[in-house]
Amino acid sequence: MTPAPPRTWRIIDLIKWGEDYFKSHNISNARRELEWFLGYILDLKRIDLYLQFEQPLSKAELNTFRSFVMRRIKGEPFQHIIGIAPFYGRDFKVTGAVLVPRPETELIIEILKKHGRAGSVLEIGTGSGCIAITVLLENLADTVIATDVSKSALAIARENAERHKVSQISFRHHDFLQDDISSSFDVVLSNPPYIGTDEMSGLQPEVRDHDPPAALTDGADGLNFYRRFARQRAILNTGGCMLLEIGGEHQVPELEKIFQPAIFSLKFHKDHLGIPRVAEIR
Ligand code: SAM
Ligand code: GLN
Repeated sequence: MTPAPPRTWRIIDLIKWGEDYFKSHNISNARRELEWFLGYILDLKRIDLYLQFEQPLSKAELNTFRSFVMRRIKGEPFQHIIGIAPFYGRDFKVTGAVLVPRPETELIIEILKKHGRAGSVLEIGTGSGCIAITVLLENLADTVIATDVSKSALAIARENAERHKVSQISFRHHDFLQDDISSSFDVVLSNPPYIGTDEMSGLQPEVRDHDPPAALTDGADGLNFYRRFARQRAILNTGGCMLLEIGGEHQVPELEKIFQPAIFSLKFHKDHLGIPRVAEIR
């Protein structure tokens, strides 16, 4: 009797097998994540994975795939495993030093598109740089200053700016809660740490154990950055606006107290899930 040939795993077999395996571990976006893994390992675009779906993986590629799958089911986000995260259709480098960009944050870009091009933009807490860099790549501003209190986050943001060949951006090390800002801008953007200390334990392990804590929480009630923005309103030029990401419905009444109607006009934009996600302040 001739022995059975060793089992070869083709792209299509791994996608099918992985989809079931991930789903049995409650990973909802299974197919998309497998495409990211295979695309990364084989250096193929998503479409090419399907054009070449009969291509078998080498032993080494298969080992890498297996180790990625094991890390993923242990709760590591796929973006940390491959070191890349998509934002507004582009890839950004991520490490443990930065928050993984979230799809809901793309709403800030959508709102800016409706407003039309701005002159000067300030972004507070740039992390991977995904917002600031996208603003320039989408031609939504002349110049951008982007800050972060974390030097290691700024290093990643600078790498991402280089990767996307964006030069009209100036990255600054700055603590928004401590240090004043002396210039003013047409648009001020931020996705600040807005999770309250008491909400941290309720986060998904993917978020809680892998995003930097200082990117998630202000170490208080999640509202400190909004209070500071209200006090720092001189950073807006006349007619300018702030677009600040918020945590959802539960923060709306608090924001209405912080940005008092006698001084500010306040409006909320909903994300793709219908959740109030961005506060527009004038
Ligand atoms: N802009 C990125 C995004 O949307 O994916 C990252 C947002 S993350 C939720 C918040 C960022 O604020 C982190 O990069 C964190 O380092 C930064 N940060 C935290 N405290 C800060 C402070 N006091 N001053 C400036 N930036 C701060
Ligand atoms: N949106 C992030 C989450 O879902 C939190 C980011 C932030 O605090 N700004 O955990």
